[in-house]
Amino acid sequence: MPCWCCNRSSVGCFDLIAEDGAARAGVLHTAHGDVQTPAFMPVGTKASVKSLHPDEVRSLGASIVLGNAYHLHFRPGEELIAELGGLHAFSGWDGPILTDSGGFQVFSLRDTLASVDDDGVTFRSVYDGAAERFTPELAARIQRSLGSDVAMCLDVCAPAGVDRTELEDAVRRTSLWAERQRGADRAAGQLVFGISQGGTDPELRRRSIEEITALDFDGNALGGLAVGEDWAEMLETVGWAAPLLPHFKPRYFMGIGDAAGILEVIARGIDMFDCVLPTRTARTGSALTAGGRLNLRNSRFARDPAPIEDGCDCPACTRFSRAYVRHLVNQDELLGLRLLSLHNLRFVLRLTENARAAIERGEFQAFRVAALARLEQEEVV
Ligand SMILES: [Zn+2]
Repeated sequence: MPCWCCNRSSVGCFDLIAEDGAARAGVLHTAHGDVQTPAFMPVGTKASVKSLHPDEVRSLGASIVLGNAYHLHFRPGEELIAELGGLHAFSGWDGPILTDSGGFQVFSLRDTLASVDDDGVTFRSVYDGAAERFTPELAARIQRSLGSDVAMCLDVCAPAGVDRTELEDAVRRTSLWAERQRGADRAAGQLVFGISQGGTDPELRRRSIEEITALDFDGNALGGLAVGEDWAEMLETVGWAAPLLPHFKPRYFMGIGDAAGILEVIARGIDMFDCVLPTRTARTGSALTAGGRLNLRNSRFARDPAPIEDGCDCPACTRFSRAYVRHLVNQDELLGLRLLSLHNLRFVLRLTENARAAIERGEFQAFRVAALARLEQEEVV
């Protein structure tokens, strides 16, 4: 189905293929290819999805990966990356890339934060402690040099539990900065997404969404959620906030990657999401499965010939046993980390693919209820 805006599915167009309740299936057209939504974006913070080759990431079903302007600005620097042909050429990933602006890193590393004013934010670099300053103009310039397909606005991401004055300042500055970044130069074909803030405060979140969407970005994100607030309150906020975002543009929930969270935000009208959870969980020796989390370090797997997850089509499950993976992780063998990363990413990407198929069939609600019921058997590890 061609898109509503130009009938040609040009770069930047978002075709809505199917809607099922508030859940949506679509296609976002970018300069480096199409992204089928709902889409989970594996995180390649430092221009690499930890321990995986880009061909592996692609074969797991990822169509878009995430890079990080904060980290790449400091190491190795966006100018160096631009000199070597941009982030796609540099990292060997030729598909779509979304880059985060660095707002989340600057504001979540609270002890490195020095001061924030209407012009920008001053902080100490996590790499060498040097005083640094980010402004919306710099965030635009970094992402332009990286040449990502989707650049994110620099926002003020307030943690959960801050007082209302701080939250209100975050909303006000996020809008000021978005307006400045909106007018900045961008890479050829680069889309720019705006971010709303306001936590779970109905008035501030609504105000932020109104101000950001008035700037007419190519897509819109809900930022400053899943940052430590109450889970039910967060979901309630997504439930009324997502429908306030433009219907015919992609909606991105920043920072969710557990199976239940993915199902719940899709159900509320979110199209894109990212999280380090699948690869971070792998580094702790745990696997994500439809029946909950498995700690492969556990001695009960010592003689278990079964795959990590029955029926999984990933490169770990089609060839290796739990007993072998347990041995590898307990011996800190690199292959153990890689196998768990492959499995965990495949799990999340398959869940998202299945959610999309269920939306297209008009059966998402039943799919979600069944998947959540299986997850409730989750083992505590
Ligand atoms: Zn697997």
